[in-house]
Amino acid sequence: PQLANQIAAGEVVERPASVVKELVENSLDAGATQIELEIEKGGSKKILIRDNGSGIAEQELVLALSRHATSKISSLADLEQICSLGFRGEALASISSVSRLTLTSKPAAQDKAWQASAEGRDMAVQVRPAAHPDGTSIEVLDLFFNTPARRRFLRSDKTEFSHIDELIKRLALSRFDVSWSLSHNGQQVRRLPAASTAIARQKRLAALCGRQFAEQALWIENQYDQIRLSGWILPAAACQGQPACQYSYVNGRMMRDKLLNHAIRQAYGEQLSAEQQPAFVLYLELDPGEVDVNVHPAKHEVRFHQARLVHDFVVSALSDALQQLAA
Ligand code: ADP
Ligand code: MG
Repeated sequence: PQLANQIAAGEVVERPASVVKELVENSLDAGATQIELEIEKGGSKKILIRDNGSGIAEQELVLALSRHATSKISSLADLEQICSLGFRGEALASISSVSRLTLTSKPAAQDKAWQASAEGRDMAVQVRPAAHPDGTSIEVLDLFFNTPARRRFLRSDKTEFSHIDELIKRLALSRFDVSWSLSHNGQQVRRLPAASTAIARQKRLAALCGRQFAEQALWIENQYDQIRLSGWILPAAACQGQPACQYSYVNGRMMRDKLLNHAIRQAYGEQLSAEQQPAFVLYLELDPGEVDVNVHPAKHEVRFHQARLVHDFVVSALSDALQQLAA
C-alpha cells in the first residue's frame, strides 16, 4: 500500500502548499471555526495544523488514514451533488505515505483523545491514547523524506512558504467566519480573527488585498434564477498600479477558471487598458448539480453544465455594476 499511496500522492501532493490545502479543507469540512498552522522550513520540515472541528472518533482513525476511505460520500448521487471540499478519501493516505504523519483527535462526545500514525511499507496504523482538546491536530514532518526525487523539486523555504501564505490568503478570503493563524519558523505571519461584522470584514479585506482595494472596491450582489454572484470588484479607474488581487470561488471552492476570468475581463471591456489588471474577489454560487468539481485531484478546475449561461450572467452582472460606477 505504501507504493500505491505514493503514486497517488504524485497527483495530490506536489509541494508543501498542496499538503496544507488538503489539511485545511479537511478542517473546514469538519466545521472548524479556528485553524492554526505552524510551518517550519517552508513546510518541508514541519506542517502542523490544529482545528476545533468535529474530530475523528477513535474507531475511525484507521480508516481516515486509509486510501479511498472518505466519510463524505457514500453514493453516486452524492458525487453528483458534492458540497464538501474533499471527497476522494486519498489525501491523508497519500500525505502519510510521503512523510511522517501523526493525527491526534478528540470529538466532543468522546472523553479521551487518540493519536494515530501509519508506518512502513504496509502502512500499518498504530493507535495510542493522547491528550488533546476537542478537535484535530495533524503533524506532517519531513515531507518527501522517502521520495528523494520529489524532495529535490522543492524550491527555497522562502518560496515554498510564499505558496502556503498565498493559499491561506485565498482561503481566508472565502471564509470570513473562520479565524486563521499562520506562523513560519516560530514567527507569526498572519493572525486573522473571525470577522462577523461589515467593519471586521473590511479589515480582513484590507489585510489581505491592501487598503486601496478595501477602500475602493465595489460590493456587488446579483442573482439570476439559481445562479448568484457576489463579491468585490475594483473600478477600472482604480486598477492602475494595483497589485492584482484576483480571486474567484465557485460554491466556496477557490478556482482559477478560464471561463470566469474571460467573463470578468469582458465585463470591464474598453474601460480597462492593456496594462491594467482587473482586481476582484468574487463568489459564484449555483446548484451543485450544475457544476462538476470532479475534474482533477488538484481541484482548481470546474466544469459548468451550462457554461454559456454562467458566462453571460457574470458578464452582465459585472458590466452593469462597472458601468454605473464609471458613469
Ligand atoms: P476526504 O477529505 O476526501 O474525505 P481525506 O483523506 O482528506 O479524504 O480525509 C479522510 C477522512 O478523514 C475524511 O473523510 C474525514 O472523515 C477525516 N478527517 C480528516 N481530517 C479531518 C479533520 N481535521 N477533522 C475531522 N475529520 C477529519
Ligand atoms: Mg480531504
